[in-house]
Amino acid sequence: MLSPASLLEFNFRWSTMMPGEVLALTLLMVFATLATVEFFAPREKLPKKHLRQSYQTNFSLFIVNSIALSLVSASSLLAIAERYSDKGLLKTLSSPAWKAVLSFLMLDLLVYLWHKACHSFDGLWMFHRVHHNDPYLNITTSFRIHFLELVSTSFLKATLIILLGIEQTMVLTSEAIMTLFIMFHHTNISFVGEKLLGYVIIVPALHRTHHSSQRSEHDSNYGAVLSLWDRLFGTLSELKSAEIGIKGSSPQDLINLIKFGFGFTLPTSSTVKPINIDAMIAEAAYYKAEKRGFSPGNDIRDWLEAKREIIALVYGEHPVKNIFKRKHQHRFLKFMGFSMDHKRIQYF
Ligand SMILES: [Zn+2]
Repeated sequence: MLSPASLLEFNFRWSTMMPGEVLALTLLMVFATLATVEFFAPREKLPKKHLRQSYQTNFSLFIVNSIALSLVSASSLLAIAERYSDKGLLKTLSSPAWKAVLSFLMLDLLVYLWHKACHSFDGLWMFHRVHHNDPYLNITTSFRIHFLELVSTSFLKATLIILLGIEQTMVLTSEAIMTLFIMFHHTNISFVGEKLLGYVIIVPALHRTHHSSQRSEHDSNYGAVLSLWDRLFGTLSELKSAEIGIKGSSPQDLINLIKFGFGFTLPTSSTVKPINIDAMIAEAAYYKAEKRGFSPGNDIRDWLEAKREIIALVYGEHPVKNIFKRKHQHRFLKFMGFSMDHKRIQYF
């Protein structure tokens, strides 16, 4: 039962909370606020069923990552900072303000460069594409990170902290600012002044371009907080992307998504077989001609019939009588190297 004494104790505990706990609480509150705005005033109206799947997968991945990374998370970075803060390159600076500004700028630049590398090298893209394969960009997409990518990022940050001697307070502040901004630029919202704000920081519209399924568009806007780095290195793009996610089919559930990050179920160019309806029609027409002994004068009729049958078979408009019953269509297409999903052709 809540007594005045316990209330007092609660207030006392609140006031003596560690800064880390206060920051965690702040992040949680910002998350709740952004998620609410996203829910009631989304930039893009997303199908509820798919959004639910995205939330489920991303939250699960967040939990897996939190467990897997409990040893190399912010607390480890803080421990490293405590040990090396008076040994790095920044110790030559006497102004604490400059130290703080430079520490933040260098950490933000590191994240920019690392993110750019994740897009440039196939081995790194394999992990990073887990983050990009969410077809419905929302605030929880910021949690959809393969744990190997998180470990590598923490390792690189630790190296920079040692090299520069970044102080504990700045590590904590930078980590909090970055997490806030990463949640913010993934949120499915738009607002007045967004374009203007984009001159300084990465806003949702800019990061949306980064999640385009088109490589020419997603190889841009790598920044975490400041858009300065993208402007400086010529990687800024303000294109409006038509489609979000990655090309081809990829898993959306937790287990297969983690496997996907290790290269399993990767659709490679050798297994992708583009459908060639014309070739299928030609083959079917030839089969018809062969059946009637190649007698002349029936070529156009054969071709038209073949076309009707193949189109019905591929798109499932109506069952093809006598030849392929609907229940055999899937099996046949699978045999040919294709699969059908809701009347759309999916490549293996
Ligand atoms: Zn990316």
